[in-house]
Amino acid sequence: MSIEHLLENNRAWSARMERERPGFFKGLASQQKPRYLWIGCADSRVPANEIIGLPPGEVFVHRNVANLVVHSDLNCLAVLDFAVNALGVEDIIVCGHYGCGGVQAALQPTEGRIVDHWIRHIRDIAKHYKDDIEREPTATAQTRRLCELNVAVQVVHVRESPVLLAARSKGVQVHGWIYDVGDGLLRDLTPIVDEVRALEPSCRLS
Ligand SMILES: [Zn+2]
Repeated sequence: MSIEHLLENNRAWSARMERERPGFFKGLASQQKPRYLWIGCADSRVPANEIIGLPPGEVFVHRNVANLVVHSDLNCLAVLDFAVNALGVEDIIVCGHYGCGGVQAALQPTEGRIVDHWIRHIRDIAKHYKDDIEREPTATAQTRRLCELNVAVQVVHVRESPVLLAARSKGVQVHGWIYDVGDGLLRDLTPIVDEVRALEPSCRLS
């Protein structure tokens, strides 16, 4: 598909939206008031709005390789701060996906590329949960387990971020989900998030 074709697509989409919901863009132009913040993988198969059926204006989105929330990542922290304190989102969804290239790479030897520095965060999770992962019988199952554990750990990172701790009174809920690129379905990972939460050092200490 050519670049020109994308611009044609856009004109057709804009016209269709305006036909179906007259005044849609004019309403959005004055403000955004999304209820949700989505933190997901940059993978092209996991487009946030599309898989949860939400139009523009309903979900604030942050995506990076393997949906990581790293304590020193100013980009992600700025998104969290803006979403919680300026936009007033009520729910934060951390969404991973099976077949994540970033997670798969974390179980392979390093290739020394820039992206390997980023993936190092997932290698640390794989090391921390080695026994849990190795309980799975096949390499595919082990990767799927690490995809789930990665989401759970990132949910804990969001909950324990200075932004969320300072905004406790707002009652923002943080959810962990995983998306299956093979069937287009989302699954709630709350039980795994609770398991991981119980294993976190900060939780054990308190
Ligand atoms: Zn991914």
